[in-house]
Amino acid sequence: MKVPTLNGDIDTSEMGLTLMHEHLFVFSDGVQEAFPRAYDLEGIVADVTEKMRQAASHGVRTVVDLTVLGLGRKLPLMQRVAAQVPQVRFIVATGLYTYNELPHYFENRDIDHMASMFVQDIREGIQGTGVRAGILKCATDEPGVTPGVEKVLRAVARAHLQTGVPIYTHTHAATRRGLEQQRIFKEEGVDLKRVVIGHSGDSNDLGYLISIIENGSYVGMDRFGLYHNEALPVFPTYDTRVRTVAELCKRGYTERIILSHDYCGFIDWFPMEVVRQIAPKWSYTHIFEEVIPDLREMGVSEAQIQQMLVANPRRYFEGA
Ligand SMILES: [Zn+2]
Repeated sequence: MKVPTLNGDIDTSEMGLTLMHEHLFVFSDGVQEAFPRAYDLEGIVADVTEKMRQAASHGVRTVVDLTVLGLGRKLPLMQRVAAQVPQVRFIVATGLYTYNELPHYFENRDIDHMASMFVQDIREGIQGTGVRAGILKCATDEPGVTPGVEKVLRAVARAHLQTGVPIYTHTHAATRRGLEQQRIFKEEGVDLKRVVIGHSGDSNDLGYLISIIENGSYVGMDRFGLYHNEALPVFPTYDTRVRTVAELCKRGYTERIILSHDYCGFIDWFPMEVVRQIAPKWSYTHIFEEVIPDLREMGVSEAQIQQMLVANPRRYFEGA
């Protein structure tokens, strides 16, 4: 089956080692356009390109970039990185990232209008580039399914039903938001095996994680590199994140686990030196450097690692 990428369509059989939830660039929507002097875009592109080359050196062949409206998606900048790291193919997203409120534009337009925007990104291309979105993104955080969030979840579900493009979510795992997302998707008629419930790895509540899997979806164990400390009190420790994956594998759920970092090669929410300080392990390569060796030590087999990083992403895009 074909999947669109920044580098042209590829066959799912060519995806290879895949990081399913990363970001090249995250910008606060509109700030760079308003105050371009605050950004050294050339330096930022060069830095992100170098980081992506390091991922390629670990054998990464496909990266799913889940940057959408709400995270300052800039397709032309992403294309510059893709052109310089041709070993890696980038699947890009459409959708809307909000924890509560919608942009005013969408407040007074209905769910189907929003869905039609996503469908155009999938069928015609994003921001005039002709690059088609291959995945849909939405979010529910601590505020829960507010009216704005519910509109996005239902619009994403409807765009999925019209196009067959799969869904990847952001959740606040501590409040078990993934189950609410599954309920809404099911009401809309979505087959839950086409859904990754993202940031599930922020929880070590096996009951919660297994419920998501038993309902049919994948659990995104997708924030390796973000660990508990004074600045990031909501995140689990390194040990907890790794042990939770090992335990799910041991219990036979390897076919429903997705591994990634949610790394942002550039993010303007904090000065980058602060990002490095509060999350020193966070990168596109941490899983290969530290997590996989430790999973092996905990009894996770090579076949299970390949399942999580190669076979699961492929099956998810194929919809099999
Ligand atoms: Zn993300």
